[in-house]
Amino acid sequence: MDKPFSLMIHGGSGTLEHIKREGSEADFTRSLHDILEAGRKILAAGGGALDAVEHCAICLENDPLYNAGRGSVLNEYGEVEMDAAIMDGRDLDAGSVAGITYIKNPIALARCVLDKSEHVMLIGKGAMEFAKLHSITRMEDDYFVVESRIRQWREAQQSGRMMLDHEDAEPQYKLGTIGAVARDQAGNLAAATSTGGIVNKRWGRVGDSPIIGAGVFADNETCAVSATGYGEQFQRTVLSKTISDLIYFKGLSGPEAAKAGIQYLVDKVNGLGGVIVIDQMGRCAVGHSTSGMIYGWIEHGGDTYCKLS
Ligand code: ASP
Repeated sequence: MDKPFSLMIHGGSGTLEHIKREGSEADFTRSLHDILEAGRKILAAGGGALDAVEHCAICLENDPLYNAGRGSVLNEYGEVEMDAAIMDGRDLDAGSVAGITYIKNPIALARCVLDKSEHVMLIGKGAMEFAKLHSITRMEDDYFVVESRIRQWREAQQSGRMMLDHEDAEPQYKLGTIGAVARDQAGNLAAATSTGGIVNKRWGRVGDSPIIGAGVFADNETCAVSATGYGEQFQRTVLSKTISDLIYFKGLSGPEAAKAGIQYLVDKVNGLGGVIVIDQMGRCAVGHSTSGMIYGWIEHGGDTYCKLS
């Protein structure tokens, strides 16, 4: 028997006042809506959750509104260095890449790691060699680096600090990491997360996004999770897996687990960020400790909703 599908995407969390002030809410809403509709097409036609989250993540990476793929934030050298991961809830198979450059769609490379390698995570130079071997699309620097990111980076350099994409800065500089979670008609769950990381990051810093269990997790028996926020805090609390464990071991629903997970993040490490969650019943949930989060959802094949809250 077919089960209705559900889909959620996010475009990061943080302070969103600037988006409202600038009046760019409509741009985000349009982008989220179009991407959710593209995902709906896949899932309504009986496509798999893994394909749906990969496709939505690719669309989000291609949109310079977000801090992933094109439009990624810049590291201390003024370069784009990206992380991404994808996970299949059917068998806990996963693919992940970190510290990669020039790859148009890091999530497609992560999917290739999942499908075509015996490993889970590839980094830097080796990941780039693997990408070449599998003819993954590369782009030149000027594709990734957009003007607003250069200004944001200069500001971070001047103040000598690293910061979250949505952290307090000039309005136009604040955009976000991306993620997608889905449940397909067969009841399978999948999750994907992709990011440029945090502004002005140093020393090969890798955040939570490509770490299975921290920034991404999917298990058919529990839920699919994609996270955004200060990666270090999500790594230390293994937050995506913690949310799954709250369902697996404590019997919570997805919405309850999302709430309890964010509470845990705050209680344990005073963490800043957010999650999107779809549970095994296809219920959609969001939780964030930041003042805002950019996300949208389709629950049980129903209407499309987009929210900047
Ligand atoms: N979680 C990402 C990281 O720490 C950043 C973000 O979500 O904006 O790399």
